Amino acid sequence: MIDINNISKWYGPFQVLTDCTAHVARGDVMVICGPSGSGKSTLIKTVNGLEPFQQGEILVDGTSVGAPGTNLPQLRSRIGMVFQNFELFPHLSVRDNLTLAQIRVLGRTREEANERGLKYLDRVGLLAQQDKFPAQLSGGQQQRVAIARALAMDPIAMLFDEPTSALDPEMINEVLDVMVGLAGEGMTMLVVTHEMGFARKVANRVLFMDGGRIVEDSPKDAFFAAPRSERAREFLARII
Ligand code: ATP
Ligand code: MG
Repeated sequence: MIDINNISKWYGPFQVLTDCTAHVARGDVMVICGPSGSGKSTLIKTVNGLEPFQQGEILVDGTSVGAPGTNLPQLRSRIGMVFQNFELFPHLSVRDNLTLAQIRVLGRTREEANERGLKYLDRVGLLAQQDKFPAQLSGGQQQRVAIARALAMDPIAMLFDEPTSALDPEMINEVLDVMVGLAGEGMTMLVVTHEMGFARKVANRVLFMDGGRIVEDSPKDAFFAAPRSERAREFLARII
């Protein structure tokens, strides 16, 4: 359902992505790993049109992301994205964070948006925090609100860019647990992470990037048992 076909991208003269191809089926959990600067964030941001690209094509459920006629805001509203730094609206309560895009982008009434938002807030275990502001929550709680906010939009897929790397160690699992639950329900997920425990548990594929290229795209078990490339072997040896 997400087809990344021969994507190349440049920042001025610097080529950040080179001929990247990957196919994500419905229900796939694809973990993307690789060294800093290898293009992981750039690649997943091309999927929801946050980063334009110069060559290749990306199809999300058959809709071409880069094509001139594509309604990008509408497409983006169907793909949830969770970043490293939570990115909640600081001046809005948790409840208003959950409802804003539902009302503005999907045209839901406040009542509908509240009902949906609170359902997902409950799901991530934070119903009691609905009147607080982001600064009054821990990092792990903020990230769970960010996930609930994305889910309330009824996404067809979720993109995660290092969702736990800004968290204190004791908060990492509460966020990973929510993600494990989502994967168990069949959500299609692209996850940039160095949490190899998470990858071992729920990924079905691991994609390894280096220097703007997809060096390896393997079933999880094959990747962990014996990565094909020397770079991936070195990478795994360093982080596990
Ligand atoms: P990290 O693990 O540190 O998050 P990454 O794999 O996500 O790294 P990207 O953020 O995708 O890597 O960046 C890939 C390369 O593109 C890096 O060399 C980075 O410096 C460069 N880059 C990223 N954004 C820009 C930009 N706006 N302009 C120019 N170069 C950029
Ligand atoms: Mg990154």
